[in-house]
Amino acid sequence: MTSHLQTFHAVVVGGGLVGKTAALALTQSGLRTALVASTAAPLPPGAAFDSRIYALSSSSQALLERLRVWQALDRSRLGPVFDMRVFGDARAELHFSAFQASVPQLAWIVESSLIEQSLDTALRFQPNLTWFDSRAQGMTVDAAAAQVTLANGETLEADLVIGADGAHSWVRAQMGAKATRRDYRQTGVVANFKAEKPHGETAYQWFRDTEIIALLPLPDDHVSLVWSARTDHADALMKLDPAQLSAEVEKATENTLGKLDCVTPAQGFPLALQTVDRLIAPRVALVGDAAHIIHPLAGQGMNLGLRDVAALAEVIANKEAFRDLGDPVLLRRYERARREDIQKLMAATDGLQRLFSVPGTLARTVRNAGMALVGAQPLIKRWLVSAALG
Ligand SMILES: Cc1cc2nc3c(=O)[nH]c(=O)nc-3n(C[C@H](O)[C@H](O)[C@H](O)COP(=O)(O)OP(=O)(O)OC[C@H]3O[C@@H](n4cnc5c(N)ncnc54)[C@H](O)[C@@H]3O)c2cc1C
Repeated sequence: MTSHLQTFHAVVVGGGLVGKTAALALTQSGLRTALVASTAAPLPPGAAFDSRIYALSSSSQALLERLRVWQALDRSRLGPVFDMRVFGDARAELHFSAFQASVPQLAWIVESSLIEQSLDTALRFQPNLTWFDSRAQGMTVDAAAAQVTLANGETLEADLVIGADGAHSWVRAQMGAKATRRDYRQTGVVANFKAEKPHGETAYQWFRDTEIIALLPLPDDHVSLVWSARTDHADALMKLDPAQLSAEVEKATENTLGKLDCVTPAQGFPLALQTVDRLIAPRVALVGDAAHIIHPLAGQGMNLGLRDVAALAEVIANKEAFRDLGDPVLLRRYERARREDIQKLMAATDGLQRLFSVPGTLARTVRNAGMALVGAQPLIKRWLVSAALG
C-alpha cells in the first residue's frame, strides 16, 4: 500500500451525525476539512420509518438551520412535540406544554436517516471537504501538526483532529484520556408503531417498575417507542414478533393511544453513563458520544453532542489570526465552554434514572410526591422546560 500525505486544517474522525455536522460546520467556515467515515447504508427503498429517531431541541435545530441542513429536511416527516406527559409509578403526573412555556414547540422528533441524508448531500457540495471512506488506525501528534493514518493506507496531516467516533472512541484512546463507564444494565429498545388514536403531538413517558417507556410523536399518527428495559426483559421484548410487541407496548402504556401496529423491527442499544476525564489533548478535541454518554430518558445525548459542535465552531470562528486550530488556548476555551452543560445533564439524567430504579413502596411514594410537588410549581416546571429545550 502506498502512503500519500494530504494536508488539511482539520480531520474529523467518525461519521455519525455529530461527526458529519462538525465536518460541515468547519468546511462551511472555509476550513480545509477531511472526514474519515464509512458511507452509511441507505434505508431499504420504501421503508416506512427509520426506527432510530431523535428528539431534537431548539439548540440542535438552530445549528442545523445555520448549516442549511434543517431547511432541506422533508417537513412531512418531522414530528413537532407540543405537549409532554410524564407518569410516575404511583399515579403522579407531570404535564409540560409549549403553549405554557411560550415556545413554538418543546422538541422535534426526527428520523436519524433523514438528517443523515441531508448532511450527506450538503457535504458532497463542499469544495473544501474531502471524504475518506475508511477508518482511522494510527495517530501521531507533534508541535507542528497531527498525522492520522487510515486503513486504506493514506496519511492525513492537520492542525486539529476531532474525535467524533462514538462511545468506544479510538481517538480518545490515542490521546490517553480516561473514560469511566457505568452500565445501567438496561437496553433501549426502539421501534415505530402506527397508533389507532391521534397522539396530538404529545410525547408520553411512563416510569414503570424501574423501567422507562416513551412514545414520541411522528407524523401520520405514528409513534416511536424508546423502552429503557432491564437487559433480560429487553432481550425478551426483542424476540417478540411485531403483533406480540405491539400488544406488550399497548399494555405497558395503558392503551393510551389505542391499538398499536408495529411497523419497524425492534432494535436495542445498551445504556450507560460514561464520563471522560478531559475533552482535549494537544491538537485533539472530542465531541459527541466520544466525550460523554448519558441515559436517553431525557432524549438529550445527540443534542449535547451537537452543542459540542456549535461550541467548537464558535471558538474556532472567534480565534485570533495568529493561532492555528490546534492551539492549546483554543482547545481549553472549548473544554471550558462545554463543562457545565455536560455535567448538568449527566447529573440530571443519572439522578432521575437512580430515583426511579429504587424498588419498594417507600421509594415509590417519595418520588411520586416529588413529581406532584414539581407539577404544582410553575417556576420549577418552567426551569425544567428551559433546561430540556437546550
Ligand atoms: C435508545 C436511545 C435513544 C436516544 N434518543 C435520543 C434522543 O431522542 N435525542 C438525543 O438528543 N439523543 C438521543 N440518544 C443519544 C444519541 O443516540 C447519541 O448521543 C448520538 O447518536 C451520538 O452520536 P455520535 O455521532 O457522537 O456517535 P455515533 O453515532 O456512535 O457515531 C460514531 C461513528 O464513528 C465511527 N467510528 C468509530 N471508530 C472509528 C474510526 N477509528 N475511524 C473512523 N470512524 C470511526 C463509527 O462507525 C460511527 O459511525 C439516544 C440514545 C439511545 C441509546
